[in-house]
Amino acid sequence: MIPPFQQRRDATKENDLHVCDPPSALDGTHPGLSNEDSSRRRFLQMAVGGTVAGLVTATSIEFAAPPRVLAQTTLNPDAALQELMDGNKRFTSERLTTCEHDLAILKQHTTEKQEPFAAVLSCADSRVPVELVFDQSIGHVFVTRIAGNIATSEIIASLEYGAGVLGTKVIVVMGHGGCGAVKATIQAKEVPGQISALYPHIQAAVDQAGANVEAATKANAKIQAALLRQASTVISGLVKANKLKVVAAYYDIATGTVSLLE
Ligand SMILES: [Zn+2]
Repeated sequence: MIPPFQQRRDATKENDLHVCDPPSALDGTHPGLSNEDSSRRRFLQMAVGGTVAGLVTATSIEFAAPPRVLAQTTLNPDAALQELMDGNKRFTSERLTTCEHDLAILKQHTTEKQEPFAAVLSCADSRVPVELVFDQSIGHVFVTRIAGNIATSEIIASLEYGAGVLGTKVIVVMGHGGCGAVKATIQAKEVPGQISALYPHIQAAVDQAGANVEAATKANAKIQAALLRQASTVISGLVKANKLKVVAAYYDIATGTVSLLE
């Protein structure tokens, strides 16, 4: 069975076309192979479908409540987390809204500052497109990505900047299904270059959860989240003051669903 978020709309139904649909769903061309003609054709098809001007289709109205620019100034940590989880529901139910917001934000020329309401520490895996997974737009999420979603000094520094300076209200440490970094750590296999430098960061999770990749990945997300809370005085201070929340999560690459682990 094809997960809902992977299903494509019937390209012959022009009124159903959405601005967030991939080019392949619109005209059958691969995104990497699109040329000027196919771009023009897509534009015309979207225009026919009434989506170019950012019109909201009737079916998307009930989901059309993504966070606005500067929303973080009023959100508390629980509400910030809820915004992300609501965005993931839109993603899994194919009701993405952010492409329309991207266009609007670009038009506003908001280039002078950023005020993201949330931060995410995710794996570098290409199957975990963070903004897409949470249906978030430009300026909304401060994202750090590294294989195995590990809290190295540089990652901690980045997330401290996000929380302490930019004002993110929640940090989600997100492991994912089929994580190659976790698998490699479990197998402790020889790898080229400096890849094995990841292993020591993930080893504690493997020691704790054993050789099951999903169990070790979930344990790793929890351990890295705990590390952020404890190793950073900036983050721990904000958490104690109830101005920041750090949570662990797991992204199921087959269903598109994000589950909180604690
Ligand atoms: Zn991974």
